[in-house]
Amino acid sequence: MPVLRLAARTHPGWVRENNEDAYLAERLPGDDRWLIAVADGMGGHRAGEVASWLALSTLRERVLAGAALAEAVMAANDAVFRRQAGDPALSGMGTTLTAAVIGPGGAVELCHVGDSRAYLLRGGELARLTRDHSLVEEFVRSGALTEQEARRHPQRNLLTRAIGTEATVPVDETTVQLQPEDLLLLCSDGLSEAVPDAHLAALLVTTAGGGDLAARVESLIQAALAAGGADNITCVLARWDGEES
Ligand code: MG
Repeated sequence: MPVLRLAARTHPGWVRENNEDAYLAERLPGDDRWLIAVADGMGGHRAGEVASWLALSTLRERVLAGAALAEAVMAANDAVFRRQAGDPALSGMGTTLTAAVIGPGGAVELCHVGDSRAYLLRGGELARLTRDHSLVEEFVRSGALTEQEARRHPQRNLLTRAIGTEATVPVDETTVQLQPEDLLLLCSDGLSEAVPDAHLAALLVTTAGGGDLAARVESLIQAALAAGGADNITCVLARWDGEES
């Protein structure tokens, strides 16, 4: 039996009244597959919550119906775009979406739009599996900004791609083969902006060789809160334990 352990948590942070983040972390019914996802909604009033919830519920429905993950992400885009186009109160809403389906052999299919991230911790090394679709990320890649300058840039939250803001959106796709004891982390920018990668790696490494996954998620949330908790914080953590008899 393939075993994937999951833990997830979201926290509104100390500043925001609403939590516009949402996540999925589940074993798909009747199937040795798992679905994990993080969405970070944006828009006035409650629109951000509508966007992230609608994106995740559409994604889940489509994956359960047998759609490929990228197709399900595009369906989520369509659903959010149509909803906001049909309701002036929701006009301008959108969301990030980072999602993975993990198959019975540990094969990960990963799709993302926006600046919610996926990381892989393997053998003590933390690697980013996603590239932020944000203005500052483009500046960093072109050499105009350093990583450190990007973290403080006033326009660091400006996305170059989001779910639901245009009729169609390009979806980044990648695949990874998990190895036993690998940790896969999906998170919103409430974590990645507050806690630098090196600190994330340290928090994950200290508990990598087993132990309580939920406690590890808690330590990530606490680190983001200790750094100010300026945004909603969401973490989904998966550990591949390989086949167990
Ligand atoms: Mg956020």
